[in-house]
Amino acid sequence: MELTFNVRRGDGRTKDATYQAYHVDVEPETSVFEALVKVREEQDGTLAFRGNCAVGFCGDCTMLVNGRQEVTCLTTVSKALKDDAIKIDPIPYAPTVKDVMYDAKRFIWDKVNSFSPGVVFNGAGWGGAQAVTDDDLRPVRRAMRCTMCGICDQGCTVIDVNLDFKGPAALTKVYRYVFDPRDGRAKERVVEAGETNGVWDCVHCWEASDHCPFDIDPTHRIMDLRDRSVRLGVKSGTGNRQAARHYNAFERSVENHGWLDERNVAIQSYGGLIKGGLKMMPTGLAALRRGKANLLPHPKRPGASAIKALFARYREVTRTER
Ligand code: SF4
Repeated sequence: MELTFNVRRGDGRTKDATYQAYHVDVEPETSVFEALVKVREEQDGTLAFRGNCAVGFCGDCTMLVNGRQEVTCLTTVSKALKDDAIKIDPIPYAPTVKDVMYDAKRFIWDKVNSFSPGVVFNGAGWGGAQAVTDDDLRPVRRAMRCTMCGICDQGCTVIDVNLDFKGPAALTKVYRYVFDPRDGRAKERVVEAGETNGVWDCVHCWEASDHCPFDIDPTHRIMDLRDRSVRLGVKSGTGNRQAARHYNAFERSVENHGWLDERNVAIQSYGGLIKGGLKMMPTGLAALRRGKANLLPHPKRPGASAIKALFARYREVTRTER
């Protein structure tokens, strides 16, 4: 079949998009990546894009195909085709080096490498060998299939406003080590992941999971990391006390009142009555003016004592689990 690729060209600094058309004759089942390789080999050796394994293993060939993030070696031209043409753009959020080639180091690998790498053997197994069964590894099997394609980061609503957020891809990598039964550094890893821009900055919008083409469910992996952190007694990173304060204030509010006292949680999260009160003053005054807050003590919900009992039971159970 004959089709047209409209590929964005430029040196990465150009603001106005210019598209170059390439006409190519390929089979319908040819992948978008292979078709672009054909263009580069037969028509234009200057066309720049990323790609490596061509079998969906390395996740390197991610591009915007007709406006959708795709792992292009797994996307056939027949599936991608729209009005006899395929428009190719670089992925957003990642700096573009040239044409549709993105800077993978800055986009994803610097974030991954900011965490401790590799499994650090914990001594479990026979005579020090890292012997694990298939069942032992089951919790991390799914995360081990992550290709680092970064499509979850492209869908992330936090990265959309804060490029420094570590993002679901890098945090999925942390999960993969924390939940590996052979690893002995879980506590240090969740402390690292709890620093600013880490797990506690996720707003659980679930877009990352919706975007992942490999069903890794990265948002869930972040929630699992939070859960493991708390179970290990770690509620934040050492330089990110706000997350722990928020966590504790939230918990105390529900435990004591049976529901959330948002006013007090905000004040406590920012450092207590004086520091947090001053910080929240403009927001608080605006909320008072609009009738969205009042100065009355926070009332207890009916049944608050039952909720308190649930907390007590939860503490008893988690104490024995740790
Ligand atoms: S979690 Fe999914 S979308 Fe994110 S990098 Fe891994 S494979 Fe790609």
